[in-house]
Amino acid sequence: MTALGKTLKAICMRLSGSALVVILFMIIGGRFPAGTSAAGEANPLAPYPTLDGMFAEITQAAKDNPGNVELITYGKSVKNRPLYCLRIHRGDGKKRPAALIGGNIHGDEWIANRVAMGIAKRLIEGCGKAERETKFLEMTDVFIAPCLNPDGYAAFWKSGGRASAKASRTNANGVDLNRNFPEPSGGANFRTSLTGVDDEKSSGYRGPKPYSEPETRAIRDLAAERRFFGNVNYHCKAMQITPAKATSDAGAKRMMDMAGAYQKNQPGVRYSIIPWPRALPIFQGNMEDSLYHEHGCMSILIELQERKEFEEKSPKPNIRMWQRNPRNPETVVEDNYPACLTALEAAFRMTGGEPIPAEKR
Ligand SMILES: [Zn+2]
Repeated sequence: MTALGKTLKAICMRLSGSALVVILFMIIGGRFPAGTSAAGEANPLAPYPTLDGMFAEITQAAKDNPGNVELITYGKSVKNRPLYCLRIHRGDGKKRPAALIGGNIHGDEWIANRVAMGIAKRLIEGCGKAERETKFLEMTDVFIAPCLNPDGYAAFWKSGGRASAKASRTNANGVDLNRNFPEPSGGANFRTSLTGVDDEKSSGYRGPKPYSEPETRAIRDLAAERRFFGNVNYHCKAMQITPAKATSDAGAKRMMDMAGAYQKNQPGVRYSIIPWPRALPIFQGNMEDSLYHEHGCMSILIELQERKEFEEKSPKPNIRMWQRNPRNPETVVEDNYPACLTALEAAFRMTGGEPIPAEKR
């Protein structure tokens, strides 16, 4: 082990200890603000919460709003952590078409988690009170899964935001979950880390076979059960919108329309759209293509970044956490909240709230 390796190991061990204290604190005393740990020490990765802080935030949202929010544990991770999802609804007992908002399938992309939770909070606050949110929730029940890869999140936290992509982007088996879905037929077939590889040492390792991982199987089963018509998934940090790669002309146009609806409703900087098949003529075993081709759900992937940091071209920090995630998540939420709602509204109009039948994809 190198000197750097020893230092990292020491940091990891110290952080594991404090994580235990945090859990005990939560059992005894409840929640703590994201900027502090149980011992009142500064959280070095604030304003991002610890995994336990983030779990507490999710479960508390359901406890505080029993009439409009249901906490669903839709599966377990490799390390037996819960896969949480919040169903946000009008609370009138009426069954509505379902939409899914996901984030953080790559464990080191914490901004994705903040944006998904930020959307959840705004919908919960506005439900029955504000016109926009109430109208949106009259249309759809929204399922929000802010952390699709809790083991990756935990690994990144334990490393103080320094873990490599291999150790934190992937799940606890070292698999890139967003390359572990089946690849639809019809794409060019070449393997790079972008499309997923069979090399177990790569951060783009796609696993021994599609759906080899409990996290991806859980998404598959959730989608089969809830029959989503639309989905937005958050990543970082390329400032791009990647629609699911529909292989029919009509399907491709619909997907571009959904991506366009997102882009046009970004109040800050507008991200660029990566169209299929011109820019990316390959499948990647990713969640969006799987939701679209297996479940008929219109799905887009959003690569987030903070406008200000992007514009200022700030000096590159030497900790991976801050290379991957902006310092101020709140402005990123504001830049993406109306876009997310509008894109799902567009998907609803194009699908009638039903999955697209196989012959029309
Ligand atoms: Zn990602």
